[in-house]
Amino acid sequence: MEFETFTTRLGATGIVVNSHKFIKIKDSKSTILWRCSTKRCRISCSTDKDKTEILRKPIDHNHEPNTGGIETERIREACKRRAVSEINERATKVVCQEAKEGTNFREFVNLKNCVYRAR
Ligand SMILES: [Zn+2]
Repeated sequence: MEFETFTTRLGATGIVVNSHKFIKIKDSKSTILWRCSTKRCRISCSTDKDKTEILRKPIDHNHEPNTGGIETERIREACKRRAVSEINERATKVVCQEAKEGTNFREFVNLKNCVYRAR
């Protein structure tokens, strides 16, 4: 089963399995326990310590995956990286280039603030 990792705005580690986001809730000796990021959902899964394979697969969720959030998270990470690596580039330009066409004005302002904070 394929999955990828990401970091939340607050610095927590998460994984994406079948488009569902999971947040790390527990580290044990050899495994990491993850829980669905949707509060009312109680689905959990586990991976090995190095986050290379899923040991216990999540069962079906009772809700649709929150893919929008994942995309925003990805754009935010890209903006933050460029905020530091291209320090002289205008924040607006960085966000314009990273954000997708569907980005609304509020998200755009959030991303710009993200660039300012990263610097
Ligand atoms: Zn869920």
